[in-house]
Amino acid sequence: GMRQSELWSKYQFVCHCRRCSASPPSYVDMALEETFSSNPEFLSLSSDYNFLKDEANQKLTDWMDEGTSEYLLVGDPESCCQKLENILTQGLQGELLESEKVKIQLNLRLHPLHHLSLNAYTTLASAYKIRSIDLLALNSDIDGQQLEAFDMSRTSAAYSLLLASTTDHLFRSESSLIAASANFWASAGESLLTLARSPGWNLFVKPELPISTSSPEIHECSKCSLVDRLQVNPFLSQSRNADFQIICNEFLACITNMTRKVWGFLTHGCGYLQMLKDPIDFSWLRQSSNLCHTPCCSDEESNKETGYQESICRRVMQRCDGEERITIFQLGVHCIAYGGYLANICYGPNSHWPCKIKNVVQNEEKSVHC
Ligand SMILES: [Zn+2]
Ligand SMILES: [Zn+2]
Repeated sequence: GMRQSELWSKYQFVCHCRRCSASPPSYVDMALEETFSSNPEFLSLSSDYNFLKDEANQKLTDWMDEGTSEYLLVGDPESCCQKLENILTQGLQGELLESEKVKIQLNLRLHPLHHLSLNAYTTLASAYKIRSIDLLALNSDIDGQQLEAFDMSRTSAAYSLLLASTTDHLFRSESSLIAASANFWASAGESLLTLARSPGWNLFVKPELPISTSSPEIHECSKCSLVDRLQVNPFLSQSRNADFQIICNEFLACITNMTRKVWGFLTHGCGYLQMLKDPIDFSWLRQSSNLCHTPCCSDEESNKETGYQESICRRVMQRCDGEERITIFQLGVHCIAYGGYLANICYGPNSHWPCKIKNVVQNEEKSVHC
């Protein structure tokens, strides 16, 4: 299997589990390496092209690392966001790669499920959150700055949700990803609740529509009773294994439905996220050309970057009537509940999760601190 030879070449380690010995590799391992290229010869399996594939991978990995260290080592989250998003949207463009026998100008983009993309989402969710916190810490009463902080929080929540949904998609085919899935759903949920509670809403939601996030009716989901049932029986612990798929599907149906309602709002102004038409159902990607031919951020688009808080977002926000806020809140509650349900299965009922959910659902003001 591909994993076996990779484990051997990198770590001199042999594993005979089903995933590692699968040949061709399992869906998950294929997805984690998936790229789109407009060079047809790049699909060739000859050793020369394999060499170039490794080269291309290394180049992208190095760029990603460089962008991430701007944030972690230099402390510049803004430059990090720019660099990582650039790699995600552009990939390699006309990059000249050569081996002894072949030479190509490579155009290549990362699939949204590629492991480098997933790493980038993790970093971006965190970097945007820090940018938002930094702006709020300035404590300025300039509307522009508050709006910018709101936008950063919005983008952070979108990346966090994308990380959870992509990981969950992979978890459906590879059960060992359950812990990652549980954790990412929980942080997506917290991120969405933070956004739903942001003071930034007051800048554009009409004040005659006050929303108290602690009012009980907004916890109620008209489509499922999962959150209610979790409050009575935190983790539905009586449910038999046979119900596991059903419960997961029920959660995901609600999450998908709500995500579709707010995805446009969450991603507005962010070139890369806007390219992803649907962050939960990836079937639109099967025609790989779909992502390959999506126009990259034009120059005009990137120039807007600086002014985007002012212009684009204000336009979106003016259309916003508070409905999004409620949906984002409910989506957050569902994500936390689903994460908790999965966590209970992998960590057992004695984990800290039951109290976390209860706090979030019943008395959310205290439990979420971001
Ligand atoms: Zn293995
Ligand atoms: Zn529901």
